[in-house]
Amino acid sequence: SEYTSDVIVIGAGGAGLTAAITAADNGASVIVLEKMPIIGGNTLLSGGEYAAPGNWIQVEEGIEDSADKFYADILKGGDNEGNPELVRILADNALDGANWLKDDIKMVFEDHMLFFGGHSVERSLVPKNATGYEMISKLNARLTEKNIPLHKNTTAAELIQNADGQVTGVKAVYDGQTITYNANKGVIIATGGFGASLDMRMKYNENMNEKILSTNSVGSTGDGITLAEKIGAELVDMQYIQTYPTCDTQSGSLLYVGDVRMEGRSILVNKEGKRFVEELERRDVISNAVIEQTGGVSYMFWDESAMTDSGMAVTHESEYNGLIARKQLVKADTIEEAAAFFEIDATELKKTVENYNQYAKDGVDKEFNKRGTLVEFGQGPYYIMVSKPAVHHTMGGIKINSEAQVLNKNGEAIKGLYAAGEVTGDIHGTNRLGSDAIADITVFGRIAGQSAAK
Ligand code: ADP
Repeated sequence: SEYTSDVIVIGAGGAGLTAAITAADNGASVIVLEKMPIIGGNTLLSGGEYAAPGNWIQVEEGIEDSADKFYADILKGGDNEGNPELVRILADNALDGANWLKDDIKMVFEDHMLFFGGHSVERSLVPKNATGYEMISKLNARLTEKNIPLHKNTTAAELIQNADGQVTGVKAVYDGQTITYNANKGVIIATGGFGASLDMRMKYNENMNEKILSTNSVGSTGDGITLAEKIGAELVDMQYIQTYPTCDTQSGSLLYVGDVRMEGRSILVNKEGKRFVEELERRDVISNAVIEQTGGVSYMFWDESAMTDSGMAVTHESEYNGLIARKQLVKADTIEEAAAFFEIDATELKKTVENYNQYAKDGVDKEFNKRGTLVEFGQGPYYIMVSKPAVHHTMGGIKINSEAQVLNKNGEAIKGLYAAGEVTGDIHGTNRLGSDAIADITVFGRIAGQSAAK
């Protein structure tokens, strides 16, 4: 069978849904294709935090920030490998995108922020319940309101071009049948990254082998990259693959209880009971440090007041209970007991905690210069959680210009083809900072939607 609309969006994660709504807001008819039976992709699995310089909570708390500071942080966080033109667009439009999600899409945000590694100030907004569900469900509600068709279980398999090379549609597969989707104006690729494809990971970076688990949705297999490459799109930064430093040692899943770290309230130690890295460093720096430790794991330590203040055990209750049941997390009255559970050197750990408390009193971490406000550890119970790095985000992907048009190997826009979200490269350089992806998919999702609707 066959469908026709102005714009076809491939992928119903955060970028695709944002692009679809924006294209419709700009007068285009839109159809969204999603290969999985459920929507949301990696966006749904994420914590959904959004880096927004100058946001309403910063204003309330008197935290000074600017697009320029954010711009500098993104570039520096990616070792200056990001494309300054695209990074500028992300930094300049991040606040507007957050306001759009709050005011137009009616996303609800918590009243506090998180301090993600590599940022120079605390600027990351937290969606309701600290999961990507809030963003995906609200975007989906808007899609429904606007009567935008969403075709699930439908896998884009080929881009259709006319004699001039302009992209005019997509061939997709549903239940073994090939369906043609014609696009009068344009096709937007928003299929996410390739962290769940071992073949593709190994092709571009052989360190990302089968020994490394992944946090990704099973749908993150780089399909859009392959489709675009087949018609001559330029790919960039494909070798830069990020591991998230503190994932489940058994499944590779993100561990949200561990976000107590981004509240500045936990430390990471090794089996020897010693800290080994700044806890708010970049993800790649922490991951690389963890790999060097005994057993290739780290142990996150915090106290009862950190647990209470952060509310992590309540917000992420089922994860918390699961971790306890699977012996990945221990709660114990004394530091000795907690350490013994994981056979960590208790004497050293107690010394580490004493030292840290002294740094908190002095206001400076003499060992690792941890950023933010240091808070002393107090009374028990104490918590220790084991974790290790897993593949999380692929920085590389399709090369786009400032209008989210896909570029070919000569740097020319391929007519009728746009891309946004994790499927694109060139923005985060060697390493994406935490909470920059939601800003990225929102900003470039909106740009792609606008551009394709023209
Ligand atoms: P982003 O954060 O860039 O929005 P996500 O991972 O959140 O990326 O979303 C990408 C979505 O695209 C996922 O829901 C995924 O299942 C979907 N997807 C991936 N490949 C295809 C494909 N070939 N056809 C249709 N949908 C796809």
